[in-house]
Amino acid sequence: MRLSNKLFVTLRDDPADAEIPSHKLLLRAGYIRRIGSGVYAYLPLMLRVLQKVSQIVREEMNATGAEECLLPQLQPAELWKESGRWDTYTKAEGIMFSLIDRREQQLGLGPTHEEVITTVARDMIRSYRQLPLNLYQIQTKFRDEIRPRFGLMRGREFIMKDGYSFHADEESLKKTYQDMYQAYSNMLRRAGLAFRAVEADSGAIGGSGSTEFMVLADAGEDEVLYTEDGKYAANVEKAVSLPAEAETSAFTSFEKRETPGTGSIEKVCKFLKCSPTQIVKNVLYQAVYDNGLTVLVLVNIRGDQEVNEVKCQNELTKLASQFGAKTVLSISVPTNEIIASWSTKSLPLGYIAPDLDDDYIAGSKQVHSQFVRLVDKTAVELKNFVTGANESGFHVVGANWCEQFKLPELVVDIRKARVGDRSLHDPSQTLQIARGIEAGHIFQLGTKYSEAMGATYTNEQGEEKPLVMGCYGVGVSRLVQSAVEQSYDKDGIIWPVAIAPYHSIVTIPNIKDAQQIKVAEKLYTELNKAGVETLLDDRDERAGVKFKDADLIGIPFRIVTGRAIANGKVEVVKRANRESQEIAIEEVVNTLQQWLK
Ligand code: ATP
Ligand code: MG
Repeated sequence: MRLSNKLFVTLRDDPADAEIPSHKLLLRAGYIRRIGSGVYAYLPLMLRVLQKVSQIVREEMNATGAEECLLPQLQPAELWKESGRWDTYTKAEGIMFSLIDRREQQLGLGPTHEEVITTVARDMIRSYRQLPLNLYQIQTKFRDEIRPRFGLMRGREFIMKDGYSFHADEESLKKTYQDMYQAYSNMLRRAGLAFRAVEADSGAIGGSGSTEFMVLADAGEDEVLYTEDGKYAANVEKAVSLPAEAETSAFTSFEKRETPGTGSIEKVCKFLKCSPTQIVKNVLYQAVYDNGLTVLVLVNIRGDQEVNEVKCQNELTKLASQFGAKTVLSISVPTNEIIASWSTKSLPLGYIAPDLDDDYIAGSKQVHSQFVRLVDKTAVELKNFVTGANESGFHVVGANWCEQFKLPELVVDIRKARVGDRSLHDPSQTLQIARGIEAGHIFQLGTKYSEAMGATYTNEQGEEKPLVMGCYGVGVSRLVQSAVEQSYDKDGIIWPVAIAPYHSIVTIPNIKDAQQIKVAEKLYTELNKAGVETLLDDRDERAGVKFKDADLIGIPFRIVTGRAIANGKVEVVKRANRESQEIAIEEVVNTLQQWLK
């Protein structure tokens, strides 16, 4: 491709609305253009990168025996009503774009394809002899994200590879899951990315496993905790660890103390000269269930620990049926305004005790009249602890469960594991932290969708059983931008060779010099013929501009037909380390072919 014929526009300055390096660079280098919030045009250079990544994904999927298909993006609402996800996806989370067609039928634009694939499986899979099966597609997905941002990282329209497998039993699912784990590792390695496979939260479906593939980068939205020995890595949402030992309490008898102005753990510790590990902290949450009911939650946890809201939400989801609901839509720490909307009298905020009375709640159709009380394991073990007195400006010391306070029935593990904690598998290892971009997620679904939608098969004994399912996603467009986030310098993008839009660019420093043009044209033709994908910068621009652009767009090798051609040579520069060398013109094709290998 000749730059003179190409839609090629680079920007000198950072676009104002881009926050992270990869987003700025892709805009500046002319790979993408923003069309609307979370909606981008993939320009020709970008399309080539997307196609290369898609090809790697395709090859690795095919190698496992999976088969490519293409499913509709327009999805009838009925399917989502069958699975029970229509309301959650269109109303509650509102992540699905939905519309009504001219026949007054409701449709959704596919954010994911469990419903569609399960329908296909329900119609076509009859017998265990057809299993296992693994189908995937590479396609544009639509999600009305609350906060689209960072360019392709979180778009409202983006490219995903999604795959779904069907099995007769868990064992078969586990085998395919392992194959997918391997395929995903291969994809990311081949795309030239540094990544970590981490244990992930599988929401309240729970039980079965789920792994996220995290591209390591400071701009990542996710936090990963891992140990140096490589034996443990988990998303912070899921991570477990051993908390530090609690200090022994200095208080030996139960007393109420006046502790003015100590509404935070830090202040109370200072005032009572105690350690936060001797305090039972009482945190208020509100959960909204999918039937619209708000439930107030009181969590007791050790003073030095934080609540992991994902784990907390999973615990509350387990209680859903108790409230006539299926799932929890959200949990949050209620604001003062919200507290005022359900409380009967002013709450002793900052001084709450584990036995905060249910009388505080003005129950109604929308608000459950009792607190759900959860106690974290870290708080259960404490003796002679300090906690609030349910009275502003007062705490109690020397308190014990089963003496002054009834221990809640629901003992749970909902503390947030954090950097520096000891690891469970080997307490001599402490947890380290890294930021990551979730590029892929593989998931053992089990029978959630097949049961809801009646997708069954007949087993060897002639019994009808629900299909066991797995699902596997890779964010192709997100992965591409992650590669940039991991590999750039002050001058621009440095593409890993395997996914670069072109391997090399031949730059003619002086377009008026017939000899330079001649050599460049010859190399351009021969390189392309030899499979070295090559651009020709034949624009009527200053050499400096051309070099800057070549650096910005990040092509791995630059070939300059400059002064050296007088000696039968050209200058070849490696983008990654700027290493430059003169190579005989007739050796160029060979040398680049070697380097590409
Ligand atoms: P996230 O937690 O980042 O929202 P997710 O859990 O919703 O991701 P999945 O539903 O598992 O993601 O989708 C599979 C993959 O698709 C993700 O691992 C990610 O790489 C990609 N992906 C998800 N949402 C987006 C988005 N809005 N823009 C670009 N890629 C996305
Ligand atoms: Mg999401």
